[in-house]
Amino acid sequence: MSEHEIETVDVVEDAPGDAGPAPVVAVVGRPNVGKSTLVNRILGRREAVVEDVPGVTRDRVAYDASWSGRRFTVVDTGGWLPDSSGLAAAIAEQARLAVELADVVLFVVDATVGATDVDEAVVEILRRSGKPVVLVANKVDDMAAEADAAVLWSLGIGEPHPVSALHGRGSGDLLDAVLEALPKEAPPETFGEADGPRRVALLGRPNVGKSSLLNRLAGEQRAVVDEVAGTTRDPVDELIELGGRTWRFIDTAGIRRRHKENQGADFYATLRTRSALERAEVAVVLVDAGQPLAEQDLRIISMVVDAGRALVVAYNKWDVLDEERRLYLEREIDRQLHHARWAPRVNISARTGRHVEKLVPAIETALEGWGTRVPTSKLNQFFADLVSSHPHPVRGGKQPRVLFATQAGVRPPRFVLFTTGFLEEGYRRFIERRLREEFGFPGTPLDITMKIRD
Ligand code: GDP
Ligand code: GDP
Repeated sequence: MSEHEIETVDVVEDAPGDAGPAPVVAVVGRPNVGKSTLVNRILGRREAVVEDVPGVTRDRVAYDASWSGRRFTVVDTGGWLPDSSGLAAAIAEQARLAVELADVVLFVVDATVGATDVDEAVVEILRRSGKPVVLVANKVDDMAAEADAAVLWSLGIGEPHPVSALHGRGSGDLLDAVLEALPKEAPPETFGEADGPRRVALLGRPNVGKSSLLNRLAGEQRAVVDEVAGTTRDPVDELIELGGRTWRFIDTAGIRRRHKENQGADFYATLRTRSALERAEVAVVLVDAGQPLAEQDLRIISMVVDAGRALVVAYNKWDVLDEERRLYLEREIDRQLHHARWAPRVNISARTGRHVEKLVPAIETALEGWGTRVPTSKLNQFFADLVSSHPHPVRGGKQPRVLFATQAGVRPPRFVLFTTGFLEEGYRRFIERRLREEFGFPGTPLDITMKIRD
């Protein structure tokens, strides 16, 4: 799937596993301690990490990894060294961002050099965060160098794990320690009213107006800051009363706290979006009405769709539009968002308050579509009609047919089609379009799976 495309129908031959998002392991440390070598090692060199030119952002920093059957995401922070500030400040900033987003921090020290002042400053940040830290004493290439590793006990953040990222020595034990430190696998998320206030994520690229909208919504309401008890890593949500009920706005601390821009900001924004989505039921994606729709906007919308969450698109800053741009948008929005045409849209101004009251009904509509269940009898009638009026095109002398269908679940609606052959892309899109025409499903992606009977 290209980054420009938004895939709305996830069609696979077997039911998709319900595996949730993987926990995040961030690798931090000074330049040249061996972070990217270690990341390569963890990935088993399945994916090459591009050799970086100092000061240049590596194009990717997050990788899927697994060890002993546990999946996790490794984030290499090495690429983000803003050249404006000094090295120490840059690394401190990197560490701060990393602890905020990671579940576990892998702190890499070059054992042949020992702990430097910069390392100690990082330790201070890590310690204050309360986040699990695994200390890596890297470049311990042989037995003789083990003594260098032991010296790092003096950092006071626990056992140094002697490793040679280059040769692999000690890396298995290190990964075992990482698994130990990961949060226990979360039970599947439960959704719905029974679970307390509905959970909303405000998403969008920087400067679209998320924090302005949040302030506007919280407005005169008494916004209750809800410190989720227990750990320091839980993001802080706000409970806001709107339209007669209480809503939980997810990770508002992250929206309100603004990081100074740096080269890693994009990646952090992506991780933050992902983790907010993990907890949200519905996402309000803000886009800047005054600017052309950017690839990043589409990517965020894709993330919502891929996560299977309900979606509302809010065109913000409507107040700055002149008549011409307004008319242009009214004509073009559908085309721009054609992969998410089903999402309720509101045109608002967080600054003036224009039409902000329309958000809640839009969110309610999306949540309702997200939770809609179609009785199997209706579904089968629907498919019987569809198959007879619009049969699948004949391909290679064969004509695959939908035998029957069930709705396997809601939030989002999941359909399983039992077919006599592989349904081609165009036909699947046609099915989705017809399902929406017939049953609505505003504001929700649909998950359509085929089971092929041979
Ligand atoms: P980063 O800047 O922290 O990402 O560091 P790199 O992974 O780019 O490594 C910096 C240098 O240290 C490279 O020349 C690596 O080959 C070398 N290096 C990394 N790990 C080891 C190791 O375990 N042993 C030795 N001897 N050299 C290593
Ligand atoms: P965030 O980065 O998404 O949280 O965006 P902010 O809420 O910080 O807003 C970024 C900038 O856009 C600020 O200067 C806001 O005052 C401005 N802004 C936000 N909403 C609106 C709006 O509806 N209209 C106009 N004209 N400006 C807005």
